[in-house]
Amino acid sequence: MTAIPDITLNNGQTIPQLGFGTYLIEPDDTTVAVATALQAGYRHIDTAEMYGNEQEVGEAIRQSGLDRSEVYVTSKLSNDAHRPDDARRAFDESLKALGVDYLDLFLIHWPLPTRYDGDYVSTWKTLEGFYRDGRARSIGVSNFQRRHLRRLRGESDIIPAVDQIEVNPYLTQTELRRFCAEHQIAVEAWSPLGQGNVLDDPEIIAIARRAAKTPAQVVLRWHLQRGDIVFPKSVTPDRIRDNIDIFDFGLSAEEVEVISALNRDERTGPDPDTFDMI
Ligand code: NAD
Repeated sequence: MTAIPDITLNNGQTIPQLGFGTYLIEPDDTTVAVATALQAGYRHIDTAEMYGNEQEVGEAIRQSGLDRSEVYVTSKLSNDAHRPDDARRAFDESLKALGVDYLDLFLIHWPLPTRYDGDYVSTWKTLEGFYRDGRARSIGVSNFQRRHLRRLRGESDIIPAVDQIEVNPYLTQTELRRFCAEHQIAVEAWSPLGQGNVLDDPEIIAIARRAAKTPAQVVLRWHLQRGDIVFPKSVTPDRIRDNIDIFDFGLSAEEVEVISALNRDERTGPDPDTFDMI
């Protein structure tokens, strides 16, 4: 059995450092993909209301026969539900769709600074309620930039346990990751493989050859050795198994540096400062 390290969050809760992502997995494919991941040893599933597959994620967890407490489940607030009443309704609906009575982690999916009069603070305070009533064991944010995090610090009670942000070898997020480290906010690296874009990089291929591993395994190992939490996505059973088979090798400090030096500040996803899709 693969030993996946736990990361301790700023509220004392722990999260498996490697999980399984479900963005762009069609509902019809989700139960099988998540079941394959659970069989391969993943115990952390990342979903979101906006992925439209929470129900199927819940189904796979129930079918696995694992106890609810053995699987770490994250979901996220839909962009169209930031107002407090909508957020409360959306949270109830996520629990219902997943068929669970608590989430391990619930996130504001996007800050949407140009929507809702820029008021992501009221939204955050609503999540604080879910944390206080125990239905969210941890709460956090996603795609928050430093100024958004600073504002939450100044205007609310609870520091987010995580910030889930886009990170890959072409987008190393040095300043935001440093800010998070200084404020005990764990970083979750979304699209850790750059949706596959970084896997043809010659430096990564060379390191993979030396390690007798695949480029995807090398990139995931790079994230883990930097301390970030990752949840690669695949619907291909061999890749699902490959992406968790990363605990029998290590990268040298120099190899980690070579990969970090590939940074181009290049996003594959939207810019959180301007993204406003509802
Ligand atoms: P990813 O970086 O995990 O890349 C997934 C793609 O990489 C796959 O579709 C496949 O084409 C390829 N791939 C996966 N494993 C491979 C392997 N072993 N070998 C070769 N190719 C492989 O991209 P992602 O799904 O966008 O991100 C991972 C997860 O992060 C998502 O599923 C989701 O849970 C989360 N996410 C969150 C946000 C957010 O705004 N919070 C945004 C995007 C993704």
